[in-house]
Amino acid sequence: MSTFTVINPATATAVKDVALADLATADATIAKANKAFETWRLVNPGDRAKLLRNFARVVDEHLEELAQLEVLNSGHTIGNARWEAGNVRDCLNYYSAAPERLFGRQIPVPNGIDITFKEPLGVIGIIVPWNFPMPIAGWGFAPALAAGNTVVLKPAELTPLTAIRLGELALVAGIPEGVFNVIPGKGSIVGERFVTNPIVRKIVFTGSTTVGKGIMRGCADQVKRLTLELGGKSANVIFADADIEKAAAGAPGSVFDNAGQDCCARSRILVQRSVLDSFMEKFEVAVKKFRVESPELETAEMGPLISAGQLDRVREYVPAGTEIAFTGSAPTGPGYWMAPTVLLAKSTSDRAYREEIFGPVVSVIAFEDEADAIRLANDSEYGLSGSIWTRDLAKGVRVSRGIEAGNLSVNSNSSVRYWTPFGGYKQSGLGRELGPDALDAFTETKNVFFDTTN
Ligand code: NAP
Ligand code: MG
Repeated sequence: MSTFTVINPATATAVKDVALADLATADATIAKANKAFETWRLVNPGDRAKLLRNFARVVDEHLEELAQLEVLNSGHTIGNARWEAGNVRDCLNYYSAAPERLFGRQIPVPNGIDITFKEPLGVIGIIVPWNFPMPIAGWGFAPALAAGNTVVLKPAELTPLTAIRLGELALVAGIPEGVFNVIPGKGSIVGERFVTNPIVRKIVFTGSTTVGKGIMRGCADQVKRLTLELGGKSANVIFADADIEKAAAGAPGSVFDNAGQDCCARSRILVQRSVLDSFMEKFEVAVKKFRVESPELETAEMGPLISAGQLDRVREYVPAGTEIAFTGSAPTGPGYWMAPTVLLAKSTSDRAYREEIFGPVVSVIAFEDEADAIRLANDSEYGLSGSIWTRDLAKGVRVSRGIEAGNLSVNSNSSVRYWTPFGGYKQSGLGRELGPDALDAFTETKNVFFDTTN
């Protein structure tokens, strides 16, 4: 069995070696999950709910440990990592209400009674990227388990540690063996096997648009159910009538949080021309204040990038000679550090303006009026997230209806709330996670007619 050496990205030092599953191990675990499905699906709704609440409680009891592990493995700031572990707990609690509320319908029909049932699918394969290892896993496994499915979860090779720990904590909480399985391994081996192994009935994939398209093609072969959360190039649209002070103060966090490695990063800032200079002045102050430092520090607002490879990829977007508006700061020395970097886009065809960079680089561009703002925001193959800043609420309504994206905030940069649906338009994805309807993505609707005429 091969192994992978997990590296602390803040120091570029080895943390530990993790065994990588091969095809046979992946198949054996999938078979185990399928066996566990036979009994898990039949657990009384109230008991399944209780087990999920136990799982949430055990996660909460280990919140600090999970957070510290994420700091070590992923370089996330300790503040973010605590939020991420808390998000897993909250998702488990939220979906623990689902088993007892998985309602079907009774539909009036002639000559009988008609009832719909929400049936679990079977084994769900969840493929997680390295940027938010804990929350993205939880958005899949919490509703999947609640609906009566069993789960095989593949963390990203770079960031397996919290997923492995969550797998252990599930057992501590009393989730039966085989119901929730974590399989560290390569995407090209374990991830692909989830797609090709017919026992896996659905794939939940978060990651790059390129890999997502390949998975979609693979799923077609078995008409395998699929949810995709892919890339983004979201717009932060700032109108002249906005609270410019507030918009500028919030803009660094909206793109540089998690070192920009966020599919919801507002990596294009669209500013109405009449306030461009005043915005840039305030934005520069905010970027210079943005604390890029060791992620263990309570004051850290941004840590390192995930890997040397990711740092190289991101730096390619800012080659020597690039005209830079201004930068923030970053530690020197070991680790994969890069200072927040602000570019003024020369045209909408600039590579840095168009492509998902997944690093701390943002492009600013001016717009003329409301129609121009909507046109620019929509000039992208992506459509995941975005923000609109204006004091005119009617304009906020019109623009939020006009932008083709799944998750928008007006006068805020928040993207993810576990109570509300999350997902992308266009090439940002397919389907929705979280919120009250996520159970639909983990169940089949079965319709049964009972003849009452004799
Ligand atoms: P990626 O290759 O799409 O990886 C995402 C997950 O898919 C990982 O668990 C990966 O496993 C797995 N995977 C890779 N190839 C696979 C395959 N052929 N079949 C099944 N699973 C497969 O993303 P990445 O290489 O980590 O990042 C590259 C770029 O993708 C980033 O720079 C960013 O632009 C984008 N990205 C977007 C998001 C998002 O949240 N939307 C998240 C991550 C990355 P291994 O890592 O173990 O190979
Ligand atoms: Mg990859």
